[in-house]
Amino acid sequence: MGEKPVPLRDFLKNVEEAVNGRVATDADTLRLYSRDYWPLALLKEVRGEELPKPLAVAWPESVEEVIQLVKLCNEYKVPFAPYAGGSGVIGGTMCEGCLVIDVKRMNRVLHFSEEDALVVAESGVLLRKLEEFLNEKGFTLRHIPQSYPEAALGGLIATMSTGQFSTKYGGIEELLLDLEAVAPDGGLIPMRKNLVPRAATGPDLKRLLVGSEGQLGVITKAALKAFPLPSHSWNRAYAFPSFEAGLKAMREIMLAWATPAVARLYDKDDSAARFHDARDLLLLVVEESEEELLKAKVSVVERVVAKH
Ligand SMILES: Cc1cc2nc3c(=O)[nH]c(=O)nc-3n(C[C@H](O)[C@H](O)[C@H](O)COP(=O)(O)OP(=O)(O)OC[C@H]3O[C@@H](n4cnc5c(N)ncnc54)[C@H](O)[C@@H]3O)c2cc1C
Repeated sequence: MGEKPVPLRDFLKNVEEAVNGRVATDADTLRLYSRDYWPLALLKEVRGEELPKPLAVAWPESVEEVIQLVKLCNEYKVPFAPYAGGSGVIGGTMCEGCLVIDVKRMNRVLHFSEEDALVVAESGVLLRKLEEFLNEKGFTLRHIPQSYPEAALGGLIATMSTGQFSTKYGGIEELLLDLEAVAPDGGLIPMRKNLVPRAATGPDLKRLLVGSEGQLGVITKAALKAFPLPSHSWNRAYAFPSFEAGLKAMREIMLAWATPAVARLYDKDDSAARFHDARDLLLLVVEESEEELLKAKVSVVERVVAKH
């Protein structure tokens, strides 16, 4: 990389000071951060085409450091892109000449309450680490997107993530109780002190950050609902005479409030590819903590499926 103009050199010097030297501008790092899993970016990379390169990557360790970075970006008119696990699929972290603010070092679990069934963590915590932490306490988020090994909390919120078990437990937006973020001008958007499940205190503007893809600030901390690990589980797969019949059965199960934890309908092609069974398949996992509830749900599911 050639010599940088003086204001950018000043900018980088200030960034370096703000994060205690945790900043990189070398070609290998910039290449690594020049794409996520956006298929078009992957294709361009394979074709050897040029991808937009950031100016630098910084790894803050606290909300105060994030504030400093964002303020510097404003002062020097350098765009910034928040970055968590890097498994996004729409190129949200890609930007030419920007500062990538990678929150991965902000990865502490800050608070867990068994009584309130909630957990508060920094936005760089990997989903699988957070889940492991909760499992040790007998709890779970039951948030299992296919990017489970790589995704981190901030990215999950900023992409409005959904997972295998979201049919019952809800997408990330339903797990989210509150968050802390740094606004695009460097102002702090604090988390509520009292983490009650909901608070009707005016428009919930923080929800704008859900699905914001890094455009509305840097999420630094979030509080999420947690659930006790289920004690009973029941799994089935059903074949249907047609995809439409499977869809009807699924609809009836949901409308009867027998909501399974997982309900996935695969058409013939998908079933053949995944299960070596070329039929329209409905895969269900019904699991609940209480055996009585589980039995009741199973009987509704079996009755509806038999009809179709
Ligand atoms: C193999 C694979 C499977 C996937 N499966 C699913 C799936 O089942 N369900 C699903 O919903 N999605 C899925 N995705 C896509 C999804 O976008 C990501 O998996 C995940 O939610 C992004 O998390 P991340 O930490 O990797 O975010 P990143 O890739 O780091 O960032 C994603 C976006 O969020 C922004 N962002 C990151 N951190 C912050 C922050 N702290 N504050 C503000 N903005 C931030 C970024 O700027 C970017 O726009 C999958 C992706 C892959 C590659």
